[in-house]
Amino acid sequence: MADTYQMFIGGQWVNSASGQTRSITSPATGEVLAEVQEGSAEDVDRAVAAAKKAFDEVWFDSTPRERQEALLKLADIVEEHGEEFGRIESANVGKPYAVTMAEEIPVIADQFRFFAGGARFLEGRSTGEYMKGFTSMIRREPIGIAGLIAPWNYPLYMAAWKIGPALAAGNCVVIKPSELTPLTLLRFAQYVAEADVFPPGVFNVVTGDGVPVGERIVQHPDIGIVSLTGETSTGKLIMRNAADTLKRTHLELGGKAPVIVFDDADVSAAAEWIKIGGYFNSGQDCTAATRVLASGAVYDDLLGELVPAVESLKVGDIFDESTEMGSVVSKDQFERIAGMVERAAEAGAKIVTGGEPLDMGEGRYFYKPTVITDAKQTDEIIQREVFGPVVTVQRFEDEAQALAWANGVDYGLAASVWTRDVGRALRMARRLQFGTVWINTHIPLTPEMPHGGYKQSGHGKDMSIYSIEDYTNIKHVMASLE
Ligand code: NAD
Repeated sequence: MADTYQMFIGGQWVNSASGQTRSITSPATGEVLAEVQEGSAEDVDRAVAAAKKAFDEVWFDSTPRERQEALLKLADIVEEHGEEFGRIESANVGKPYAVTMAEEIPVIADQFRFFAGGARFLEGRSTGEYMKGFTSMIRREPIGIAGLIAPWNYPLYMAAWKIGPALAAGNCVVIKPSELTPLTLLRFAQYVAEADVFPPGVFNVVTGDGVPVGERIVQHPDIGIVSLTGETSTGKLIMRNAADTLKRTHLELGGKAPVIVFDDADVSAAAEWIKIGGYFNSGQDCTAATRVLASGAVYDDLLGELVPAVESLKVGDIFDESTEMGSVVSKDQFERIAGMVERAAEAGAKIVTGGEPLDMGEGRYFYKPTVITDAKQTDEIIQREVFGPVVTVQRFEDEAQALAWANGVDYGLAASVWTRDVGRALRMARRLQFGTVWINTHIPLTPEMPHGGYKQSGHGKDMSIYSIEDYTNIKHVMASLE
């Protein structure tokens, strides 16, 4: 019997106003996992009303220490129920359980602990007498109600990237998980409610589709900031819809990370990291090492190491300890990946390995780890995010071409440079138009450091003190000394 979840609004578990529900299925097993509420604009309105009351009556007066203590409890909840979250997340997204337990659950707890500390370290410029006879001071205040819209690739993890800084800064939150993967956040909310972590209305979860639930969050006049992690196209729509209320937007969008391998690079290390960074989470990662640019001098060696490494990836049963890659998240995503690979081949690219589904039976969406060469810089497979286990390898002539190709996409989230030449590494790091540049590695993140896009990968930062600042308003208070 599948679990049934309600929504968490104003400290209460409630059904959707419409009474509608939807079934959530596992893309890796085809099994129905749970029944969840199908929210509507009315449910968002209820959640915002509860959040507003909580903000005005209680949370605005919370101290940084109180917020820190609450956030530390969130970290404890993640840790205490880690295995359960790991199981639910793996089944819902189609990820290997062992990988989720190693790479996601402990990291989520750590992120909450970082944000807990951050609640106590907000800064402003020094108070002082900038005009004779007057004292000026800076207040850094919460915006009020943060509307948070999460994606499906790392459901609880991406939710933590939003809930953590928004609450640390003193906001109340209304969060909508992806309609495909709401289960870990709902289970998390159950533990948060049981432990009485927040006064009613500070933390609200509304489930349902982008339209109407996400759309209403974006349009609601009482929400002061909307934060999305999602596709670039969704980000554009949200910016347009946010214009009517002039709300602040915080947008973490798509990526198309280049991995630039120069002739003096450690090719084996590059191949190993591409195997990890290109196929982790079935390549459904906004920083995935998806677009390799290799110098002519190492191109053959790199492919010689990468292709067998990719072919060795163990794909399949997500609850088998040794599995490295699971399914993709849905039939739609599967079809998008297959379509892009097909069109790449039609445009003249060569599928070196993979390029086809892995048949695991009805309702299970597995795609073979794929390497593609001989694509042109202008091809769709180079220009658009695949968000699947697909890596392209292009051969470049010189540094100028590597840089031009790396920057020659709409996205600007993350990039990596592989070289032993320090000057070249730093020259490239300076010129690359990406919010994160790795040197001789690809994909590690740490909560102290910011993550966020340039160009059409969005704006605003996740993690780091900058993310907490993104959820604040700065106020100048000036007083006469007379
Ligand atoms: P998506 O854009 O389809 O959906 C994201 C969220 O937006 C979902 O909750 C969805 O319901 C909601 N949404 C959809 N339409 C909406 C609308 N009109 N108004 C308000 N909300 C709406 O993205 P996804 O497929 O869930 O996630 C994958 C995408 O997320 C990829 O493009 C990936 O690169 C990106 N991503 C980015 C980062 C980052 O840090 N930059 C991290 C993870 C994922």
